[in-house]
Amino acid sequence: MQRVTLKDKTFVPYITADKIAESVRLMAQKINTDLASDMPLFLVVLNGSFMFAADLLKEVTIPCEISFIKLASYHGTSSTGTVTEMIGLTEEIKGRTIVVVEDIVDTGVTLEKLMTLLIKKEVKQVKVASFLLKPEAYTKAMVVDYVGMEIPNEFVVGYGLDYDGLGRNMKEIYVLEKK
Ligand code: 5GP
Repeated sequence: MQRVTLKDKTFVPYITADKIAESVRLMAQKINTDLASDMPLFLVVLNGSFMFAADLLKEVTIPCEISFIKLASYHGTSSTGTVTEMIGLTEEIKGRTIVVVEDIVDTGVTLEKLMTLLIKKEVKQVKVASFLLKPEAYTKAMVVDYVGMEIPNEFVVGYGLDYDGLGRNMKEIYVLEKK
């Protein structure tokens, strides 16, 4: 692994592909045990989660369904402020066990908005599987049920995560170089 430059920023190697694979395997094993009889619907939150989701779900061996969503924000009326919308969900999810698949949970704001949307749809339960979590930045009370790795409050790219559209295709994770 070598340093990479994406646009105006340089990133240094941080998490190897082997370490990533190992923690993804461990997470899948836990999910296989915990949700064996729930027939969960995995909701993969695009774009960043595509690589993690593909690796995770290859190791998930229990009966399940998989669907993909995008979150879009728009400014509603002045009384409601920013509204988050879920795009792409075609399944009926009432009464189901949902596993939200996220690349990274930082402050938790995005996750909280998604949770609100899912709860409104009267799901049975929502579990959250995030490959990365930044505990120092996390401000919410919701439990992130499955976490691949906890990282400090630094900006990372690779393994699905981008910097200004670039870097998603890298199989390792890189962190912004400290000056
Ligand atoms: P939140 O603060 O709402 O938990 O995080 C929202 C989003 O910010 C994440 O889904 C991700 O798209 C982006 N994000 C947060 N931290 C990082 C990071 O370290 N690297 C990259 N590439 N995106 C991040």
